[in-house]
Amino acid sequence: MFRLGVTGGIGSGKTTVSKMLEKFGAYVFDADFEAKKIVAEELLAEISEIFGKNFIDENGNLKRREFAEFIFSDKEETQKLNSLVHPKTRLASKKAVLKAKKEGFLFFVHNAPLIFEAGIDKELDAVLVVAVTEEVALKRTVLRDKITESEVKLRVSRQMPLEEKIKRADFVLWNNGTLEELGKSVCDFYEKTLKELV
Ligand code: ATP
Repeated sequence: MFRLGVTGGIGSGKTTVSKMLEKFGAYVFDADFEAKKIVAEELLAEISEIFGKNFIDENGNLKRREFAEFIFSDKEETQKLNSLVHPKTRLASKKAVLKAKKEGFLFFVHNAPLIFEAGIDKELDAVLVVAVTEEVALKRTVLRDKITESEVKLRVSRQMPLEEKIKRADFVLWNNGTLEELGKSVCDFYEKTLKELV
């Protein structure tokens, strides 16, 4: 089964593109969504031990907002959390590939912001980078997440620069225009490129 990675910076449109690919037969694995689930369901004991009990509320649930703020504010803490989460997310992705095969999906999409940074590209057949200018990413992310521009800039500064991602990409889709234009680019990409490969 053909495994396509979909990556790009924060607010670039990875999830939007992945959803659009569903209608061409993709099984979509959303690595961020899975990682959040893993943190909340499988890693609470480790989080309490490594980062502190104060991130768990009285019902035993993760205080998501406080924990995210803490993790994003320090590079070392981000790396510590990533080293706990990434191996489990990888395993979940491998299981999802098997499930997708069994269920007869045409191809597999691994949607994740850190495909190159975490070396996941080695486990995929090709990587598509969704690219936007920093200005567009800022505007869309602030609107979606109700966070400040400086918080977005901090998160952007932690990621591999866009030019580097583009250099490593097999395919690039620009998403500075409207959703309708993006839909057309995704359709062209499927018809002219992906269809031959899957
Ligand atoms: P993140 O990694 O930050 O979760 P992402 O790369 O998955 O982001 P999306 O969630 O797909 O990005 O898009 C970010 C926001 O921008 C969403 O609210 C989405 O609806 C919106 N968006 C995406 N593409 C466009 C577009 N072409 N025009 C307008 N809004 C868009």
